Amino acid sequence: MNLEPFIKGQEQVLELTAWRHLSDQIAAGFTTRNGGESQHPFDSFNLGLHVTDDAKKVNKNRETLSEILGFPTSNWVCSEQTHDNKIVKVTREHLGAGVYEYEQSIKDTDGLYTDEKNILLTLCYADCVPLFFYSPEKERIGIAHAGWKGSVKDVGGKMVRTWCKDGIEPNEIYAVIGPAIGKCCYVVDDYVKNFVDNLLKEDFLHPYDQVSENQYSLDLKQLNYVLLLKAGLSKENIKVSSYCTSCEENLFFSHRRDKGKTGRMMNFIGLKEV
Ligand SMILES: [Zn+2]
Repeated sequence: MNLEPFIKGQEQVLELTAWRHLSDQIAAGFTTRNGGESQHPFDSFNLGLHVTDDAKKVNKNRETLSEILGFPTSNWVCSEQTHDNKIVKVTREHLGAGVYEYEQSIKDTDGLYTDEKNILLTLCYADCVPLFFYSPEKERIGIAHAGWKGSVKDVGGKMVRTWCKDGIEPNEIYAVIGPAIGKCCYVVDDYVKNFVDNLLKEDFLHPYDQVSENQYSLDLKQLNYVLLLKAGLSKENIKVSSYCTSCEENLFFSHRRDKGKTGRMMNFIGLKEV
């Protein structure tokens, strides 16, 4: 049985299909590097405005995505991501933030959620873990960006706790952990490993293997899975993508593989009013 929560749609997009049985209003997914305008090393569907690519090309790529999704860019919201764990509740007053001008992005924010329809939440990635959240009861949606820093700051768990303050039970929340750098390609040192140890303590199996002295292959997707369980989500409600952004060179940009000179994918979620 194929448990991959994403399927290939048009060449630019992996569609999140895992929640189709819960709602036919959700537009959610993760973009690929294909089918865009940008030139090397941002070839070609770069959606990051902050990576020294030609902004005109990025904006063209964003318009292409908007057409594919049927979500006008005026209804998008983008943020300035800082590998921290600040989470913002998005309302209509944020519409259009950072879509064409990076400086207009919501500041210093790595998690977005909303209760409103026809808003597309977006965040950018090149190896970090994209998290998706959905509460069918409240019709609330969210996304969060979790690299190793965001992960050890538990941005995903913080999203869950934020929602629970509004009366949502953790076992009513669905989460998807999207394409990110896999354990196969992600080696860290003691500095990072110690943050993981301090966070998980004795409660859970720690998601890394030592490969040599001071070197550990770390499974960031598994770390986020464990943190979501710790936050109270049920196992059945968490789906994990098997895509590794570094292995799949034909599909994804990878900050680590491409030595920092690369484009950005985007994860997105919106609820369409029918
Ligand atoms: Zn890999």
